Amino acid sequence: MNTIQPGFVPLTRAEYDTLTKLLGELLHTQYPPVVIPGEAILGIEAIAASIAAPGRRFLNIVTGPYGTLFGEWLERGGAEVFELRVPFDEVVTAQAVQTAIERSKPHAISFVHAEVVTGGSNPAKEILELARRYDLISVIDSVSAVGGEELPIDSWGADLVAVGMQKALGGPNGVSAVAVSPRGWAFIESNARAPRNSILSLLDLRAPGEGQPFRVPPSIPTLEARALIATLAATEAEGLEQVIRRHEIAAESTAAGLRALGLQGWQRDAARRSTLTTTVRIGDEQLLRIEQPIGIVAPGDGELRGQLLRINHFGASASQEGVETAIKTLAALLEQEATAAIAAVQEVWEAAQ
Ligand SMILES: *Cc1c(COP(=O)(O)O)cnc(C)c1O
Repeated sequence: MNTIQPGFVPLTRAEYDTLTKLLGELLHTQYPPVVIPGEAILGIEAIAASIAAPGRRFLNIVTGPYGTLFGEWLERGGAEVFELRVPFDEVVTAQAVQTAIERSKPHAISFVHAEVVTGGSNPAKEILELARRYDLISVIDSVSAVGGEELPIDSWGADLVAVGMQKALGGPNGVSAVAVSPRGWAFIESNARAPRNSILSLLDLRAPGEGQPFRVPPSIPTLEARALIATLAATEAEGLEQVIRRHEIAAESTAAGLRALGLQGWQRDAARRSTLTTTVRIGDEQLLRIEQPIGIVAPGDGELRGQLLRINHFGASASQEGVETAIKTLAALLEQEATAAIAAVQEVWEAAQ
């Protein structure tokens, strides 16, 4: 057996501790988040594997494709899954969630916080209030919410939260994180099926106490982890609130530009739109049926192709220049003059200064 890993320099314990500390600050949690040695979807699959078991009932809210996948992983683990699904041009209401909780009487509830694919954002704070009221374990995919919306994990009482830093924060995608509350750990530890000695094991990846050794030292990609530390430091320097504000203005100015172009948002409720992406309804407009992304304007993913266009105004593109370029792209596709729409975009950025 070849045990030599040429060129592999492990992350030092000091770097690991810095990474965990910065992640905890970003997520407003006092409990050290689990560093996932891979992209965010690995953390989401690890959550499902760690908590699913026969006899456990879940209410899985599906407002986009990632929710469907999560439900499949819970079922693979033998869990009983009730689905609350809405058309993808909507998100759920707290009222619908409450009704579904009362019908399904679950042990846990799961949902995607903000959806980049559909451009919607679920009422996370309200859903978490319901989770606490009904004493449910809460699971959130906040990959596209962190840096675009508030996410105070401890004060909201969220139990298992997956995040990736490559969307709003513009960081690397090869290292991600899962925040776990003490209740979340108890839910995992009481699951005889929770993986051990596996890439999906949150228990193996759990940060040991200060000065304590790892049970299994995780192999965290060093370059990605260092890039992530730099991203988190840059976020701290800009200020998380300012990063969020920048995404809010990007979304608001995009909406203004779309109105000036006579286009409609795909998400029906303007108050529940994601701050990371804006989705545009294509309807009968043949000119919007693009095959390939043009800058940050992209065709819909999967089944949404032909129904919507995605404007990916997140990370470095959450800027006046990013939005203006996207609006010019749309005007060009529509063979329209862009001047009025650009003025509408500018007005929003100037008012926000
Ligand atoms: C991007 C995204 C993911 C997947 O993240 P990767 O880092 O690409 O694995 C999962 N969930 C949501 C809501 C996302 O937006």
